[in-house]
Parts: sequence; C-alpha cells; structure tokens
Amino acid sequence: MTKKHPRTAAVHAGTRRSQYGELSEAMFLTQGFVYPTAEAAEARFVSLGEDEFIYARYGNPTVRMFEERIAAIEGTEDAFATASGMAAVNGAVMAGLKAGDHIVAARALFGSCLYILDDILPRFGVEVTLIDGTDLNAWEEALRPDTKMAFFETVSNPALEVIDIAAVSKLAHAVGAYVVVDNVFSTPVFSDAVAQGADVVVYSATKHIDGQGRVLGGVVLGSRDYIRKTLEPYLKHTGGAMSPFNAWTLLKGLETMDLRVRAQTQSALEIAKVLEGDARLERVIYPGLPSHPQHDICMKQLGAGGTVLAIDVRGGKDASYAMLNALEVFTISNNLGDAKSIVTPPAFTTHQRLPQEQKDALGITEGLVRISVGLEHTADLIADLEQALAQI
Ligand SMILES: *Cc1c(COP(=O)(O)O)cnc(C)c1O
Repeated sequence: MTKKHPRTAAVHAGTRRSQYGELSEAMFLTQGFVYPTAEAAEARFVSLGEDEFIYARYGNPTVRMFEERIAAIEGTEDAFATASGMAAVNGAVMAGLKAGDHIVAARALFGSCLYILDDILPRFGVEVTLIDGTDLNAWEEALRPDTKMAFFETVSNPALEVIDIAAVSKLAHAVGAYVVVDNVFSTPVFSDAVAQGADVVVYSATKHIDGQGRVLGGVVLGSRDYIRKTLEPYLKHTGGAMSPFNAWTLLKGLETMDLRVRAQTQSALEIAKVLEGDARLERVIYPGLPSHPQHDICMKQLGAGGTVLAIDVRGGKDASYAMLNALEVFTISNNLGDAKSIVTPPAFTTHQRLPQEQKDALGITEGLVRISVGLEHTADLIADLEQALAQI
C-alpha cells in the first residue's frame, strides 16, 4: 500500500491474509514453521526472505503485522516488537553499547529504566551521566566526543517535564552520539520524534497502544539498518520476543488508538483547566496548559498535552490519600493510557524507592497524584474529582 495517513495505516498497514481471506488479522499462535523440503529449510537458515519465518523468537506473522503497522504510524522504516516496554528499553539501550562507552541520560526516568542505566550498565563498564534533561546547558556539558548515546523520556513520569527532542538531538549528533527516546507519554498519536531528530523511538505498548489494560508489550522503532543489524541480533538471541497473542491484541488496539488518545487528551485538558487555581491544590501539572514550564516545547513537539496530568494536593499524604480514597469513578492503579481513568500517588508507589533528594529533584512530593485520564464522560470525571477533593 502507498503511504497513507497514520489513522488509515492504523487500520490496514502490515495486514497479511492467509489463503482463507479472513477480514480480521489472524492470530498465528505458533512457535515454529515447517518447510516443504530439506533444501527449503536450509535456504531459509541461509537467508530469510521478506515474509518468511523460522521460529517465533525471531519473528511471527502476527507480530510482523504489528511491527509493520506501528512503523507505518510512527513513520519509521522498521520496528521490532518485544514482550514488554522494558524489554524494548533494554534492547534499545544494550544492543548498541559496549564496555568503555559513555551515555548521557535525563534523570527523570521510569524506575526500571533508571535501574538499567544506574545499576546494570555501570556493572558492564558503561559510564552513565545523569542530568536534568530540560537543561540544554547540562546536555552540552555532559556530552563528550566519546558519548555513544543520549537517552531520555520525551515527557517524564510522573512530573511531566517535556524535553526538547530537536535541541537535544542537535547537541548529541554534533558529538556523534545517537538519540534514543522513551516516548510513552507522547504516544504514537502525537509523536513527531523522528522528524524532531530522534534516531530510535521506544514504546511500552502496554500503555496507550493496548489502552485497555490487557497485555504487556513493547516496540523499538528506527531505520531498517539499525533495527535489523544492531537491534534484532541482540533481541532475537536474548529472548524478549512478543507473543503472537499479545501482538494480535495490540493490532486491535492500534485500530482505535487515535480515537481513544485524542478523546482522552481532550478530557485531560478540560480537567486540568477546571482544577488549575483550585485552592486545595499546590499545583496542577499538565503540558497542555500555558502555565507548564515547557508548554511551548510540548506544543511544537506534540501539538497537544497528552492523556496524563498530575496534581499536588495541599496537605501532603493525608490530604491526597483522603482524596484518593473518596474517588468513585477513578481507579487506584499504576497503569496509564487506559480506557479506565487511573490515579496513583507516585511518592508512595511507583517511585517510593527513590532517595528523598531524588524525589525532591524530580518534584515527587507527598501530595503528588498522577492522573491518567480514560474514556469516561468528562463531566463524570470532573464531578468525581470535585467530590473527592471536598472530602479533604
Ligand atoms: C510503563 C513504562 C515503561 C515500561 O513498560 P512495561 O510495558 O511495563 O515493561 C517504560 N517507560 C515508561 C515511560 C513507561 O511508562
């Protein structure tokens, strides 16, 4: 198919039909593939053709459909799907590095990403410099001629700092480093990461791509050369393959992702506007509000504020817990990007292990509540937040 708008690609790209001509994508729940002859088996092991498979750890038709569809949406040449978002981050970070390399990363990271960078990499002789990713001077100072990679979350979790992909990529490319972005909060719907300068884009498909809390998944996107020559050898031999069942579920997720994410984002903006200035809140953090410190960068990069906001409830833990426990429509959980609206207190859940000075540096206060806005009616969500805040 010729290049189409991402919404059309989300419904059709990558589709492979079997001899039965099924309308919906088939789930090829098979780990292996058979060969008509010994010669054919040999030929496939020598060189794998475009639509040929050997073993599901290397590739599977349903997984391949998912990879081609998400690559068409993101606008990259190729993609490799993984068992989870962390398998994707691990692959994207590890595949291109060796002992002695240097990497610069923004400090505001998802806990497991921080573990890979701060704990695992140094054990294997990779030097990691963690900086404030919103500070371009800090990037300039940390990047060196021997820096191999720059890594950051384009919108950070949970404090929603937005990093300027174009500016950081320019600085990283000037020293010959390549740029890997964890793009979960930006979502594939609003992402323009490659056009902004990123070389490799990573998603946890568990979030907006599934969007209905069913399966884990991840994906790494980039040039064909990078995906097939650097990433695939690492991932196919280390075993982080996506299951065909999950790929099928995620293909169906992609079909509705654009509609879901845009509706959730519209609601998130309305909620942020209603809450901003509320006397019971210290702060409302939403990149779609002009009051957000990186609002302009967010609008240039994504054109929207996304599906997640955060509020800092006055009165710390007691007050925020009173509000959380009074919510009726919002669910306390740690997923995000889901059809169900979800709230979580990061200081005591996802980020509880961080030392206090890091929590302070990242703005993770005791009253902070991360709000992932779902698909319920906006009026019900606003009413629920209002009645819960009244319980403080
Ligand atoms: C959830 C998440 C991950 C990890 O994804 P899993 O699918 O849970 O492995 C990585 N980065 C960010 C920013 C996330 O939100």
